[in-house]
Amino acid sequence: EWVNFVDFYHRIIDRFELTKEHNVSFERQLPDQPTFVEIDPDKLTQVMDNIISNAMKYSPEGGKITFKMEEEIDQIVISVSDQGVGIPKDNLEKIFERFYRVDKARTRKLGGTGLGLAIAKEMVEAHGGKIWATSVEGKGTTVSFSLPYVQTEEDDWE
Ligand code: ATP
Ligand code: MG
Repeated sequence: EWVNFVDFYHRIIDRFELTKEHNVSFERQLPDQPTFVEIDPDKLTQVMDNIISNAMKYSPEGGKITFKMEEEIDQIVISVSDQGVGIPKDNLEKIFERFYRVDKARTRKLGGTGLGLAIAKEMVEAHGGKIWATSVEGKGTTVSFSLPYVQTEEDDWE
């Protein structure tokens, strides 16, 4: 299904903005013009939901979550950054493994199964994209993924 990812992304962020309980602010850095990608919207919603709920879960009081979308020549890159505890460098790749959780004591308190990012990875890869994370301990984490993108004439019609 062809989806304007800019609208799609805004709608997901809107939903989190309406239901969020704790004190975090949102910043959106999304393109103004539509960008069409061929995706399974239900699956990508699940991917986004997991990444964003992780960002919320690990955000401190008053933290900011930054949502970005960047268009490159043959892909779009979506990222969600938080100002939370961060992830040690050695664990950055492991968080995409099934049942992997960085700090058992910390994460037990916050709940979850450790499956969210493993499922996200599977779904992003099924779309021909990649998923990765960067982090500075104590400063925050950015989880990003790419989706293949072919610039079509439709994009210029607008
Ligand atoms: P589930 O998503 O199944 O409810 P979960 O959130 O613990 O459980 P994942 O989403 O797969 O599992 O994340 C795996 C682990 O990666 C988390 O338990 C946490 O330790 C770490 N992690 C993920 N996102 C962040 C983040 N934004 N900041 C800090 N740690 C994170
Ligand atoms: Mg999760």
